[in-house]
Amino acid sequence: MKTLLIICDGMADRPVPELANKTPLEIANTPNMDWLAKHGVCGIIDTIAPGITPGSDTAHLALLGYDPYEVYTGRGPFEAAGAGIDLKGGDVAFRANFATVDDSGAITDRRAGRISGTEPLAEELQKISVKGAKIIFKSTTGHRGAFVLRGEGLSHEVSDSDPHEVGKKPLRIAPLLQEQQPTLPVYPLITGGIRKYVVRRNRAVKTAKILNEFSKKAYDALDKHPLNVERKKNNLPAANYLLLRGGGIVPHLTPIKERFGVDGTCVAAAALVKGVCRLAGMRVVDVPGATGSVNTDLHAKAKVVLKSFEDQDFVLLHVKGTDEASHDGNARAKIELIEKIDAILSQFIDEVDLITVTADHTTPVSVKDHTGDPVPVLISGDSVRVDDVQEFGERSVTEGGLGRIRGKDLLPILANLMGKTQKFGA
Ligand code: ZN
Ligand code: ZN
Repeated sequence: MKTLLIICDGMADRPVPELANKTPLEIANTPNMDWLAKHGVCGIIDTIAPGITPGSDTAHLALLGYDPYEVYTGRGPFEAAGAGIDLKGGDVAFRANFATVDDSGAITDRRAGRISGTEPLAEELQKISVKGAKIIFKSTTGHRGAFVLRGEGLSHEVSDSDPHEVGKKPLRIAPLLQEQQPTLPVYPLITGGIRKYVVRRNRAVKTAKILNEFSKKAYDALDKHPLNVERKKNNLPAANYLLLRGGGIVPHLTPIKERFGVDGTCVAAAALVKGVCRLAGMRVVDVPGATGSVNTDLHAKAKVVLKSFEDQDFVLLHVKGTDEASHDGNARAKIELIEKIDAILSQFIDEVDLITVTADHTTPVSVKDHTGDPVPVLISGDSVRVDDVQEFGERSVTEGGLGRIRGKDLLPILANLMGKTQKFGA
């Protein structure tokens, strides 16, 4: 049974006064979404929990059936997996960006002049050896990269080195746990809580030490690298410091195949979403022309979706541009992209058995950031109990048969409709 889950990033919105108090999704001309809603079951989803503002990573984890509170410690691992690094449980991963520091050690440019083509620098960083861990680094887009520490007994409970401000020196990385466990309820005394705390703290101290050693060695190697010598000669900011942030420990995610009996393919451009899917054990396909922006080639993506169904039952199609337009506060661009997404749906209606359309969170164009409002969802296919909802919008779907669910409920619901679930009990 071919099942397609379409996630339009940040598509959900709030009423916009300039749009006669309608949302971009309500005002957009979406005949296919409306048809699917009419021939499907609808509802709203709190992707994390009511009122909680999701990030794209935690929201996608939830929509794939995981409890983000259990598995999420930071964005780093998902970016690194999205960059194509083969991660192992226990690796600690960070987001990294090349920055420029001057001779006094102060940051003069957090993005090193938005440098690109940093692969030679990445090669140099990989050569650095530190005691107690292996370094893995991969350049991603522009000045960004993914940084991974691999070794025994590492911790993500350390601070960032990125001060997020020009003129300051990179911060010394420190353990986030104080030397002594601050408040001590009685039960940890019995359950070994103190011992656990000491272990955690020791790991964080060790990891911070490794990272500080690495940061210094990285500066020494980068500053004299021919690429940077050349940049300085040309009056360009040298990419001589690697700022680290968003550290997280790589979680062990039970693959969705094991949990729901479906293989999965992810069709997305955004590295973060690809990373979540890869760690969930899904196949991730790169689509030429998919940009993660409003100008993305949706037809190319649709083609890959249909091709994926030749040997897969479950495909996740992610479109990032709706969130980008929302962060820009650009209602017009958001409406146009929603209409373009709607247009490609017609290719799926005859080919796919079960189609789900939803968003990972609300990003109101009026707020230009994510909020904790629920998102609309529709599921359309032969096995669903069709409700009375006639069109797809944030408010119209509240009348639907799914009611109000959590993100992590969605995949079990789809697995049931696909006939993949097993009886609980006799
Ligand atoms: Zn998102
Ligand atoms: Zn966003």
